[in-house]
Amino acid sequence: MSTSPQLEEFMNGLIRRNPGEPEFHQAVHEVAQHIIPFVEKNPKYEAAQILQRLTEPDRIVSFRVCWEDDQGQVRTQRGYRVQHSNAIGPYKGGIRFHDNVTQSILKFLAFEQTFKNSLTGLPMGGGKGGSDFNPKGKSDREIMRFCQAFMTELSRHIGPFTDVPAGDIGVGGREISYMFGQYKRIRNEFTGVLTGKGLAFGGSEIRVEATGYGVVYFMEDMLNHKGLKFEGKVCCVSGSGNVAQYAVEKITTLGGKVVTVSDSSGTVHDSEGINAEKLAHIKELKEVKRARISDYILKYPHAEFIAGRRPWHIPCDLAFPCATQNEINAEEAAMLVANGCIGVSEGANMPSEKGAIDVFQNARILFAPSKAANAGGVAVSGLEMTQNSMRLSWSRDELNQRLRTIMGDIHKRCVQYGADEDGHIDYLKGANVGGFVKVADAMLAYGVI
Ligand code: NAP
Repeated sequence: MSTSPQLEEFMNGLIRRNPGEPEFHQAVHEVAQHIIPFVEKNPKYEAAQILQRLTEPDRIVSFRVCWEDDQGQVRTQRGYRVQHSNAIGPYKGGIRFHDNVTQSILKFLAFEQTFKNSLTGLPMGGGKGGSDFNPKGKSDREIMRFCQAFMTELSRHIGPFTDVPAGDIGVGGREISYMFGQYKRIRNEFTGVLTGKGLAFGGSEIRVEATGYGVVYFMEDMLNHKGLKFEGKVCCVSGSGNVAQYAVEKITTLGGKVVTVSDSSGTVHDSEGINAEKLAHIKELKEVKRARISDYILKYPHAEFIAGRRPWHIPCDLAFPCATQNEINAEEAAMLVANGCIGVSEGANMPSEKGAIDVFQNARILFAPSKAANAGGVAVSGLEMTQNSMRLSWSRDELNQRLRTIMGDIHKRCVQYGADEDGHIDYLKGANVGGFVKVADAMLAYGVI
């Protein structure tokens, strides 16, 4: 972990002002370690206190969500929307339904989102929202009632020119549809207020695939930059949700071999590789049957299910953490490196703990931080907003091409700001500084607001 007296002083103040928010502290530290030296060399940002202002969200809305379960019992949950920065466009970022959702988690996600959205080159600010509602085991009608209750309050705070949420953990097409329907009912308007909508009502082709595809495109660019090829690489993927599924699909298309997927109960290790047919089965398990990933071995008994473990002890060339935050610790990172892993592309948000990042950076392997590697999802969300405004739909090919170009441009921006003197690319520094500059310049232009 890089540290300096200035960074330490800055972090001490941040921790004092935001007690009990470890994930937020972690995300800010990851960015501040690069931005503080950068603003010291560019005093205009320091004089305007840009970093200090960027670590205070524009606002946080927190609200009660009451709904009735199938037994007629009243349930009470907490909902949030963190509107972090609209310096370069309307707030934009997902909604997460998970029982571990806290204000700290949503603040870290919204903070990261601001930099990520800036990196895409599209005009989007950063936000994030969600609830401690746990969708696991809930019936369809319970999900619908919860989504409607959540949107009844959220609708006061969002709008196509104000804040445009999308999905995240626990919020997929079904939940977005229920929320969009409720917004439409309450406001009596059909506008692009959410992204990730169904294709029949304003959704975009490639949005479902975009994050997973983008994570793999970014890895492809990192490999190519070093003169390496994707073909034949053995890959460990974690998670088995939206991002993981489409990462697996794209890796396979590019000639890689995926040997793991996981969920919160454990890891599936399939040394023969997860091909298109097996992936279709995973999609059915997770999307249709809403089952656990351990059921994979019922159909493919040659594979192994390792209960309660994450995939990182399994040897691979490339790792794609696509489940959740802090899912790789320093020990697991060291195991990956020792087993010959040469690249990590983060599909989930902040999946690597600080200690794990240090291991990757010290080993000088290819390390793509989430704010760069998983920006493909929000990029296509941005394109969904454009299509909604223009009232037209682009084709799948056109959108995939645009996604590919955007990921390539993000890679170039990281190289521009992250190249060390010896030619090694520090993608973390590149993404942090590259994401910061555009937002900071907009804030400078607005004066003190
Ligand atoms: P998802 O479809 O809900 O899938 C989440 C996956 O992660 C599931 O396999 C889930 O397993 C696993 N998981 C969740 N919490 C976990 C925990 N505490 N420990 C271990 N595994 C856990 O969500 P997603 O959209 O793929 O999102 C995955 C990650 O990507 C998140 O960090 C999200 O913020 C990030 N992301 C998503 C998008 C997007 O477009 N969807 C865009 C950018 C970033 P269970 O089923 O057991 O919970």
